[in-house]
Amino acid sequence: MATSKKYDVAIIGGGILGAATAMKLTAAFPSKKVVVLEKEQTLAAHQTGHNSGVIHSGLYYRPGSYKASLCVQGGKELRAFCDQHGIAYNLIGKVVVATDESELPALQTLHERGAANGVEGLSMIGPERLKEVEPHASGVKALLCPRTGIVDYKQVTQAYATQMQEQGGDLVTGARVRRIRAANGALGIETTQGDFEAAHLINCAGLHADTIVRMMGRKPDVRIIPFRGEYYEIAPSKHHLVKGLIYPVPNPLFPFLGVHYTRLIHGGVEAGPNAVLALAREGYTKFKVNPGDFAGSLAWPGFWRMSRKYWKTGMGEMYRSFSKKAFTRALQKLLPEIREEDLVPAGAGVRAQAVDRTGFLLDDFSIVEMQNAIHVLNAPSPAATSSLAIGRHIVTTAAKSFNL
Ligand SMILES: Cc1cc2nc3c(=O)[nH]c(=O)nc-3n(C[C@H](O)[C@H](O)[C@H](O)COP(=O)(O)OP(=O)(O)OC[C@H]3O[C@@H](n4cnc5c(N)ncnc54)[C@H](O)[C@@H]3O)c2cc1C
Repeated sequence: MATSKKYDVAIIGGGILGAATAMKLTAAFPSKKVVVLEKEQTLAAHQTGHNSGVIHSGLYYRPGSYKASLCVQGGKELRAFCDQHGIAYNLIGKVVVATDESELPALQTLHERGAANGVEGLSMIGPERLKEVEPHASGVKALLCPRTGIVDYKQVTQAYATQMQEQGGDLVTGARVRRIRAANGALGIETTQGDFEAAHLINCAGLHADTIVRMMGRKPDVRIIPFRGEYYEIAPSKHHLVKGLIYPVPNPLFPFLGVHYTRLIHGGVEAGPNAVLALAREGYTKFKVNPGDFAGSLAWPGFWRMSRKYWKTGMGEMYRSFSKKAFTRALQKLLPEIREEDLVPAGAGVRAQAVDRTGFLLDDFSIVEMQNAIHVLNAPSPAATSSLAIGRHIVTTAAKSFNL
């Protein structure tokens, strides 16, 4: 590798976490040479660019978890960053609606978790107050969360990357990492844009994070199983039905939030996302199959254990994916006035969900140190909200682990 470019730290992945980490790293260690390697031509082309655009407040997460602390801190820092950089966001507020009595204990748990996590302004409201906040929503009780917001995470990621470059870091797009090997006491990283050498590596490759671990000759304890989340747009004539964000009470046994209504920062209202098993890591459509990805999922022992545990929920999600009528019925529980013809198929995102050998869907963020590398192995929602806090956490870990 005589011609390779030399760096102190190479970050794989130009999603929101790679960009946030690079920005924090170049700010903390201005003399270190840092590069972000992104396989696509643009930043935020995968999870970050296909998400709901919600700045979560921190309701859902077990107190003491990384998600709980990093979401609350990260959300505050994100809003401050947006203020400084002129990025539009809106604290539009959210209601989590219990549509029948059976959901009240789970709603109460969310309230308690939110309070324990330091989420500001939470209150439990009855049907009359709900009618004032969301006149078209229907429920027996709701949790009002005024500090939930919306933003464009692609724009945020671009701003992080610009600042990282101003601080001396490099960004190389179109650079898919193909191989990693030990070279001159460092790491030789072979990409589709040439070879790079780095003393240390930070893996923020999202849907491909476990593949990067394997490239380094290690066996990860988890496999990334892709779960597609499909959206519908609400027809403009029905936008008035949704003022802010309207969510159901989530199934506590499943790490996804349930289909909900989201106002978008650039206008429009979306409904979704569901959570269906994807047959490719980048399986944005129902019939996209990547035989290697799918065979890899089937070969993972945790996949079968997960399937046995969640087959009923999984079948329900699959049915709603193929049946617009069933999807509409789920949405009508929250907004009875919505009709099938008001829903226009929109895009989809694919979640990188880490599943361990026992079939457990990792709930918390997982950031693992291995020799001269740090791997982000599970960073589902609310990782976009938490990006600056996660970035800071990774830089603190790197400072010690890499002896920077
Ligand atoms: C449907 C959906 C809705 C969501 N809604 C929200 C929300 O409202 N709020 C919230 O906070 N979070 C939300 N999330 C979660 C959030 O989007 C993710 O947690 C976050 O984007 C993860 O960022 P990332 O940088 O880890 O991954 P990604 O954005 O996926 O970035 C990983 C990058 O690595 C690159 N890469 C992969 N392999 C290689 C390789 N070999 N070489 C070079 N580059 C490589 C990819 O091209 C990609 O750009 C949602 C996620 C989904 C899927």
